[in-house]
Amino acid sequence: MTIEQFNFAGKKAFVRVDFNVPLDENFHITDDTRMRAALPTLKKIIADGGSVIIGSHLGRPKGVADKFSLKHILPHLKELLGIEVQFAADCMGEEAAIKAAALQPGEALLLENLRFYAEEEGKPRGLADDASDEEKKAAKTAVKESQKEFTKKLASYADCYVNDAFGTAHRAHASTALIAKYFDKDNKMFGYLMEKEVKAVDKVMNDIHRPFTAIMGGSKVSSKIEIIENLLNKVDNLIITGGMTYTFTKAQGGKIGQSICEDDKLDLALDLLKKASEKGVNLVLAVDAKIADSFSNDAKTGFCAVDEIPDNWQGLDIGPKTEAIFAEVIKGSKTILWNGPTGVFEFENFTHGSRSVAEAIVEATKRGAFSLVGGGDSVACVNKFGLADGVSYVSTGGGALLEAIEGKILPGIAAINE
Ligand code: AMP
Repeated sequence: MTIEQFNFAGKKAFVRVDFNVPLDENFHITDDTRMRAALPTLKKIIADGGSVIIGSHLGRPKGVADKFSLKHILPHLKELLGIEVQFAADCMGEEAAIKAAALQPGEALLLENLRFYAEEEGKPRGLADDASDEEKKAAKTAVKESQKEFTKKLASYADCYVNDAFGTAHRAHASTALIAKYFDKDNKMFGYLMEKEVKAVDKVMNDIHRPFTAIMGGSKVSSKIEIIENLLNKVDNLIITGGMTYTFTKAQGGKIGQSICEDDKLDLALDLLKKASEKGVNLVLAVDAKIADSFSNDAKTGFCAVDEIPDNWQGLDIGPKTEAIFAEVIKGSKTILWNGPTGVFEFENFTHGSRSVAEAIVEATKRGAFSLVGGGDSVACVNKFGLADGVSYVSTGGGALLEAIEGKILPGIAAINE
C-alpha cells in the first residue's frame, strides 16, 4: 500500500516518526528539520479525515527522564501542524489507550518517548556490570518476551501503521519494525519521507548512471570499512578523504606528523588499495594537505604534500591541488554519493575542502548528475554552506543510509514490504 493511495478517512494511524531533535539546555529545539520532514505525512492523514497517534524516541534514555520527554517538543508540533495535539505522558498507560480510542477524525495524539521502555529497543537495562553471561541471557530473554506485549499494545491503538522514521529504519525496534506484523499489507505503508529516502537509496544502488563517484570522508577507516568494501563493487571512482587519508598515507610510507591515524588499520588500507586496483576502481586520495600546528581553529596553518607533513604538524583538511583533483572527478560524474567531510569542518579555517566538494557536487548536479548526500556531517556541511538545494537529495538518515548502501536489508523497510 502507498500513502498516496490510502484513504485515511475515519481511520486511526500509528505514525512512527523521528522527532529525535536537538534541544538546548532550556529545552528549546535548535534544529527542527526532522519534525518538518514528517509534516507531509501527518498532514495528509489529517486532511483525509484520519487521526494520528504519533510515536517517536528522543535521545538515549535509560528509563523515564524528564530531560528526554517529548512534552518539550509538543508546543512546536502544534505550531507546525496548526492543530491542537494531545499528549499521553506514558505511551503504555491507561491514559494513552483512552486518548487513542477517543480520537476523532482530524485529531492528533503524541505519545511519550517510546524509549522510556526498554521494550522499544528490546535491550535489557540496569544489568550490573559484573552480571554473569547467564544473567545477561536471562535478562535478554525477559525483555524480548515483554517486548511482544509492548508492541501489541502500541499496535492496538490504531487501524493502520505508517513508518516515516528513516533515521531508525536500520533498527529492528518495536515501533520501527516489529509492530508492522500486526497490520496486513493493505494497512501498513511508508510515509512520504521514508518513500523518498528509499527511492534515493534505490537510485544510487540500482539505477546507476556512470561514472559513479562516491566520496567517503570522516575520521576513521574502521567505522567505514564495510561500506567502502561494498562500494568497491559499485563505483567507478572512490574518493577517500577526511581523517582516513592519513592511515592510507602512512600505510604507503608517507610522513604524516601528528595527523589522525589508525595504526592497526595500515594493512587494511593497503588491502583496500589492492582491491580497488583489482576491480578497476579509481581510488582517489589527497596529494596535499592543509596542515596545522595544533588541533585548533586558531592554529598556525600551511600547505604541504600529504606524505611530507612535518613532525609536529597535522593535516586538518585537503589542500588546493587535491581540491582541484576531487572537483574534476566529481564534475565528470553522473551519480554521486557523499558521506563525510574532507577535514575538520567544525573549525571555520578547515572548511574549504568540504565546501569545494559540495560546490563540485552542485555543479555536477546542474549538469544532470544524481547526487545523494547523507550521514550527519556531510548534511551539516551542505546546510552550513547553503548548498542543500543544489544537490538531488539530502538524506535524513545517518546509520540507516550507510547500512542501506552497504547492501543490508533495513528491518524498518523489510517490515513494510513483507
Ligand atoms: P565521521 O563521524 O566518521 O563521519 O567523521 C566526521 C568527523 O571527522 C568530523 O567531526 C571531522 O571533524 C572529522 N575529521 C575530518 N577530517 C579530519 C582530520 N583530518 N583530522 C581529524 N578529524 C577529522
